[in-house]
Amino acid sequence: MNISHNETYLKIEILSNGVVFSDSALRYALQVGAKVQNNIYNRPKGASLLRPQELLIEYGGYETVVSCISPLSSRDPVEIDYQNHRLYVKNRLLIDGVSISFVLEPDYYKRILSTGEKVTKYVSSCGYDELNIIPWKGCAINQTCSFCGVNTVARTANAYDDARSISNDIQLWLNHEGYYISSLKEAISIALQDEVFNHHAHVILISGNLSDELLNVQSEIYSRISSAILPDISNKSSEGLIAVMAPPHDEAHLALLKQSGIKIVVFNLETATLATNQVHTPGKLSIHKDYYHDRLLSAVSYFGKGNVWSNFVLGLDPLNDLLETCDRLLSMGIVPSTNILHMDEGSYVAQLVPTADMIINFSLSFNHLLKQYGYKPYYCSKALRTSLTNEAYENRIVFCD
Ligand code: SF4
Repeated sequence: MNISHNETYLKIEILSNGVVFSDSALRYALQVGAKVQNNIYNRPKGASLLRPQELLIEYGGYETVVSCISPLSSRDPVEIDYQNHRLYVKNRLLIDGVSISFVLEPDYYKRILSTGEKVTKYVSSCGYDELNIIPWKGCAINQTCSFCGVNTVARTANAYDDARSISNDIQLWLNHEGYYISSLKEAISIALQDEVFNHHAHVILISGNLSDELLNVQSEIYSRISSAILPDISNKSSEGLIAVMAPPHDEAHLALLKQSGIKIVVFNLETATLATNQVHTPGKLSIHKDYYHDRLLSAVSYFGKGNVWSNFVLGLDPLNDLLETCDRLLSMGIVPSTNILHMDEGSYVAQLVPTADMIINFSLSFNHLLKQYGYKPYYCSKALRTSLTNEAYENRIVFCD
């Protein structure tokens, strides 16, 4: 039997079943200024733009954040109501002592740059304390991944702000880059003064990808952004700058990324086997069958063991296949992690969201591997909103015979 602490139990219930809000809970969200969907690279299927993005769950002094993912029709979604001045869960037991609140919109979301643009055009927050830098919207991969709706939410992007337009005419980006970087630096300096980053910030440079033939160019752009912003983030970033991207074609570009000051590169495999690659990440596979694996391995010699990461979507692979792949990566100094599959607008994946038992069993086994190799989970429990890796590491899920 496995036991979760009450806050982690509720997070697992939400991630495996989805969550719905009563009208009074939604009115309360509006009243307190809950952070709503940022609509930059994903949005839960069927969600309005005013749906709260995340919940903060606290129990016994431990805090975790969970994404307000879409309810699953075949499951029993967690129902959140607001009565007697508090949010509460209507249809789950075993959550005595748990306190729930909305993650609020940070103050910097309201701030305006000297150019007249909103700070959020350049930076935004996922979870409580991530600072996401997203240079362009959308993804120009030749076939999108099954679980990803990035191009659906990017539909309204301007030409210079859209991966597909930039890929058709790279000059669009190059003309705009100086303006982008100076605006980004101002946005970062405003955002990092916000109280959500009092403790630390997980600073993540992340985007969909330019087209396959431009992946070296994407590395060059990322490197120039990194060199420019490093002085602005060094006091607050807990990991240094993390770059989530498709790997470049050439080794020289891995060296360039390293020289630019990026501390950790993240080349996401998303799925563990060739069979699931073919179904869920056809665009990544089409560059070359071993493209991501080869570049991950090469990156270790530039960034060092533990500073090359690769994420997976939990639910796409049989759990044993995924654990075996994680074991192999860890043995090479590459740190994997998992986000639990959730249904986003524009995705075409079938509902393969793992059950609570699957999530718990995987999290415990994965945590055992992580500790065996001496690595830690990414970020923290208030940043990773669709993952249980931190909770397992911090013994919020306990294996009992
Ligand atoms: S590579 Fe796949 S997961 Fe990443 S942004 Fe493009 S479509 Fe989405």
